[in-house]
Amino acid sequence: MSKTRAHRSCHKPGRHTTRGKKSAPHRSASTCHRCASGDGPHDAHAWVRDHRPIDESHFMVSMLRCPACGRRALAIWAELIDWHGGDDSTASLIIPVPQDHALDPTLITDEKAVERLLSSLGPCPHLATTHPRGESASPWTWCNDQPFILPHD
Ligand SMILES: [Zn+2]
Repeated sequence: MSKTRAHRSCHKPGRHTTRGKKSAPHRSASTCHRCASGDGPHDAHAWVRDHRPIDESHFMVSMLRCPACGRRALAIWAELIDWHGGDDSTASLIIPVPQDHALDPTLITDEKAVERLLSSLGPCPHLATTHPRGESASPWTWCNDQPFILPHD
């Protein structure tokens, strides 16, 4: 049993049958074939990194950009140390940011700033993957809830 909140109730990959019928309209809806195809593992690899405002050993935040459409995203990576087994759990998020949202890397100075940014975004489409200790990593999956920072060391 994991004590973390790493288990997420996201859509299962491959369950999207929104062809012809768009999923819920959203302010950051995008039709980019590269970063918003609806295929999580594909879309997660669309991005290039512009900045890494936070680079700690167990917590990293990067600012990404899609080379195809210019959309920006925030990437959060957190690691929870397993002091006993050495098999660390990790979790990653990629959160595309609406074009009209100011995303200033100089303001992303610490975890509190990231939390403020996430709450200002509210529930929004984002990519998530977790790698619980002792298990294989889950595939990148699109979620549509409030992104949050997983507990980390
Ligand atoms: Zn794109």
